[in-house]
Formats: sequence, structure tokens, C-alpha cells
Amino acid sequence: MPDANAAGMLALQQQLAQSQWWSPETLYAQQQAQLAQVLTHALDTIPAYAQRFRAAGLALRTPALLEAWQAVPLLARRELRSAGETFMSRKVPPAHGSLSKVQTSGSTGTPITAYGTKVTALFWRAFTLREHLWQRRDLGGRFAAIRPEGTLQPGRGQRAVGWGPATDAVYATGESFALSSRTDIPTQAAWLQEVRPDYLLSLPSNLIALARHCRERGIALPNLREVRSYGEVAGDELRQTCRAVWGVAVKDAYSAQEVGYMALQCPEHEHYHVMSEGVLLEVLDTAGHACAPGEIGRVVVTTLHNFAMPLIRYEIGDYAEVGAPCACGRGLPVIARVLGRHRNMLTFPDGRQAYPSFPAELWDDIAPIRQLQLVQTALTQIMARLVVARPLTAQETDTFASRLQARLGYPFVIELRYQEDIPRSAGGKYEDFISEVASAGGAGA
Ligand SMILES: [Zn+2]
Repeated sequence: MPDANAAGMLALQQQLAQSQWWSPETLYAQQQAQLAQVLTHALDTIPAYAQRFRAAGLALRTPALLEAWQAVPLLARRELRSAGETFMSRKVPPAHGSLSKVQTSGSTGTPITAYGTKVTALFWRAFTLREHLWQRRDLGGRFAAIRPEGTLQPGRGQRAVGWGPATDAVYATGESFALSSRTDIPTQAAWLQEVRPDYLLSLPSNLIALARHCRERGIALPNLREVRSYGEVAGDELRQTCRAVWGVAVKDAYSAQEVGYMALQCPEHEHYHVMSEGVLLEVLDTAGHACAPGEIGRVVVTTLHNFAMPLIRYEIGDYAEVGAPCACGRGLPVIARVLGRHRNMLTFPDGRQAYPSFPAELWDDIAPIRQLQLVQTALTQIMARLVVARPLTAQETDTFASRLQARLGYPFVIELRYQEDIPRSAGGKYEDFISEVASAGGAGA
């Protein structure tokens, strides 16, 4: 017989195993019922929400708020950042357990402070386990994680029995290993050769750098079965590089510490399913209307189980493309791609915007370039920040500029700037492309 903790996890997992097959109509109805509880709780115990709704001309009653949902004001990331504990409930239901504080470092390094409860932690673990089960992992395998968390010391790997609380409550799991992503890449690769993981989890930028290093040095990871990514955009370059170098697929998860899991990669496709049991996730166009499949818009999330600091129509700052219903049969809505933040968008002189990519395969044969970051400094100008073994020759510079112009599809003026290092954000994340001209009308980074 499982103990109470395991029984609770299995019961929740059993519900998730059923709700994933619900029709969109059933999911919607269940979400509305849960959302009504969140709104009632917010109206009763969080004056800041009541004030915002009143200022927007909304009635402070639950059915009316649900009916006028499109008029409920969005909560911008920058508002949440400066809000401190404004959006905390003054009366968290005791059954939700003790509070836990999460601090997230945004891309500009200013942290967001959020609070969760035992219930939000339970849902975090339940979705973690759902992801393992969806991807049919061998839970007895060796699992290695290379993460940015400050609790990990660069260069000092840690070893543990079991994969962690999400799995270990219910399953006997293999050994797990953790290393700071602030460790230099050659040391990471040497550590992985010792650890010999079946599964490797890290940030996309770190995984790409690792895979390229392994390819250059002929380093093999013979036991590796799958790469897992999170925390940054998992684009084509990540998937292609991992497949080419290690012969494995990438499984990505879309999550944020202040929200929880928002979407997981479908077991059968590269697109994502929204975790509708935990969040209401909207993708909105510039007019505030829901995007149709194929359209790209702002991601707006509402947490459904956080009664300590519920986030209601929180504009997290990411953009995503809505997908068509999935052939796998799950009713959970589909996100085709997560595209990153507004400040990672290229703006063309005619006003069009796009998410640029300039994968390493297009430039790593030109010169010994170790690291690259592109910054749009003006509508017609791109600055390429480079970490190099030596400066590029005039001919290499021309080749680099012309390939970049061809890739971006516009003859931008390309300026090279050599740097010792390209620092990551305070949260340990890396941005390939930063725009200094993307209009402030977007999400704000
Ligand atoms: Zn699917």
C-alpha cells in the first residue's frame, strides 16, 4: 500500500490521466468552475485585484467577471515586479498549507517575488511526473541536470539517490546528478563523461554549446537516450544539433517559477499541450483577441490553484504560436511554438517583426568564433558581439556580414564588437538576439 503522500500523488495523476482526453468543451467548463473559485477568493482577500477590476469598470462579482473576461485587465510583468506583496492574499485557506517564496530573475535581472503553497508545489510535482510518464522514460536510468541555480557551485557536481520528490514518492528511480551551468563547457563535458547519463536536462543555450564542444572534441555520451530542455526557447538549432551530435530527441517543457508548468511537449509531436488543469493560458493578438491556429500572440496566464498569490491574466512577456488540435487525441490546447520575449524580436525598417535565428552552422566555419550575440541597435543596424580566438580578417568579416544579411533577409549594417565574454542574465539565461528598438508596446522584458 502506498503511504499518504504517494496515494495523493497517484490520485492526482489518475485524474490528469483522464482529463488530458477531455473534449475542449469539458475542459473549458471545468476551468471556468475553478476560475470562479480563484476570482471569488481574489475579490474577498486581495484588495489590489478588486481595485483593478473596479477601475476597469467591472462588477465585483464572480459570474459577471467571468462573462466580462476579455475586459479583465492584464497584469504586466513589470507591474508584478514592482508590486512586491501587493497581490498576496490576506487569508490563504489553511488547507493549502504553508507558504513558500519563489524569486525569479527576469532577463534584466530584477527579481519577481511570488508565493506558492503546498498545493501549488503538489501540482508542480504532478506535472513533472506527467511529463516523465508522457515521454515513457525509464525511471531507473541515470539522470543528469545542468542548471543555473545559485545553490549549485560551479565545477562541483552533486550526486543523489533518486530523481527527486515528483517521482520518488511513487517510483523507485535511478541515481541523479546535478552541476551548475555556470561551470565552463569543457568541465561540463568531462563531468558528463563520468556521469554517463541516460537523460540530460539543461537550458537550450547550454545544450547547444555542450553539443558543439562534444562534436569538436569527438566526445561521445554513449548512454544518452534523450535531452530535456527548459527555461529558454527550444528552437530548431537545439533539436537539430542534439540529433546530429548525440542522435537523440529533445523534449521541452514551458514553465515559469511564478506560474508553474504552462505547457509540455506532446508525447508524439514537437508541439506543446497546455497544462489546462493548472493554468488558463491565452494567446492574444495586439487587439486583445484570442489568436487562431497559426497566429502568434502574447502569452497571458491565470493560475488556477495558487490561493496565496494568484496571478490573474498575467502577461508573462513571452510570445507563442497557437497550434491546431493535436492528432494524438488529447483535448489539451496546442501551442505550436514558444518564441521568446518581445525584446528578442527583430524589427525591419518597414515595421515588420520576426524572431531571427543565426545558428552556429552558418558561421562556425568562417573563423574561430566561440560565442555570438546579436543586438539590433537601430532600425537598420545590427551589432554582432563576438568572443573569438582572434579578430576576423577583412574577408572573414565580409563573409560573416553577408551571411547574416542573407539570413535576416535585409541588408542591415553589420558592426562587429569583440568581447572577452558575453554574460548571461542574472537568472543564468542566454539571449542570442536582443533588440534595442523593439517598440515598448509589447510585453516589456
Ligand atoms: Zn498531442
